[in-house]
Amino acid sequence: MHCEKEIAGIAKPKRNYLDVKITYACNFKCEYCYQFDEFGRRPVGVLSKKHAEALLKFLDRLGEPYSVTLAGGEPFVYPHLDFLVENLARRGHEINIITNFSAPIDRIKRFISLAGNSLSSFSTSVHLSQWDDIGKYHEKLGQLVEFRRESGLKFSILPTCVLTEENAERVKELYYAIGKTELSLEVQRVYYGGQYATYPKHIDEFFADKGLDVPDDVANKVNFFGNKCWCGSKFFYIESDGQIRRCYTHQSNSKTYELGSLDDVDGITVLPGPIPCLSDDKISPCVCFKHFQRQAFLSDIKAEDAEIEFWNKYMRENPEPEGENTPHAEEKAPEQAKRGIIPSLWGKIFKSKRK
Ligand code: SF4
Ligand code: SF4
Repeated sequence: MHCEKEIAGIAKPKRNYLDVKITYACNFKCEYCYQFDEFGRRPVGVLSKKHAEALLKFLDRLGEPYSVTLAGGEPFVYPHLDFLVENLARRGHEINIITNFSAPIDRIKRFISLAGNSLSSFSTSVHLSQWDDIGKYHEKLGQLVEFRRESGLKFSILPTCVLTEENAERVKELYYAIGKTELSLEVQRVYYGGQYATYPKHIDEFFADKGLDVPDDVANKVNFFGNKCWCGSKFFYIESDGQIRRCYTHQSNSKTYELGSLDDVDGITVLPGPIPCLSDDKISPCVCFKHFQRQAFLSDIKAEDAEIEFWNKYMRENPEPEGENTPHAEEKAPEQAKRGIIPSLWGKIFKSKRK
């Protein structure tokens, strides 16, 4: 019999998580945003009210508290935000939000009041190119900190900022300015199409001990294919069109990746526990090790070849003949790789990678 806290020697994550892309709509135009299609257009997906209701039913079906992260686009332009937040809080789920912090402070306070004690983290992404006057960001951040103090709520306030070669000096200033408050800045490495950006040595060295989320010696050197991972069992990613996925990364067997749709809550597959990661390191490597290692979904235990083979074939719609192995992800990869190409920064990153 398995210990309640572990399965096959792999500790259960302390929390269940679910990330929802509630909308792709956004009022900013950041130079490094990857949420564009191959023609440079922003996807228009929005989680419908029907799917928001179905999401609550899916959580009811799962029967355990989840830590739900609302992400966009910009969540504060999502029309059903209050409905979702009120109902998540009422059901006892934790709420996290990732916002560009452009919404008026009163709107932000209303959201926080609706979430109440269920609010776990409020992540403010500072997109430096979008603030004409960064003083206004700091002023609003001060108001948020003050509101938290007055309300007695305990949620975390997490300022983050994407680092590019061009904005490095401004990120330094931001890092020092936020460091003077009770908060600290997380500096995020640009990520695109399966690869993290690398920076000139002086930038990397400066930020190495100053909140850079992915260290240089780890970026682009990870390969978790075959590692046992709880995603699909204790973590789910919900797309704005209501599709449920194991995580953000295509798996070589699409049946362990595309788990179903909010159009059919009872038909959604919940994987039985920590099964091998089937990301293909050549086509679609695990992009989310920072996130998932922190949350203890991704273990360092490699599955045996036979187990990988079993899951690679598990529930395939059209099973391959014995011995033949044609991952579905191969067909999808070129399209996925194209997703999000935008001019300027990405062009530069790709050029530098090709050298
Ligand atoms: S705020 Fe986020 S979603 Fe909006 S443009 Fe910037 S990076 Fe993209
Ligand atoms: S290791 Fe990464 S890609 Fe693999 S299943 Fe887990 S989160 Fe997904």
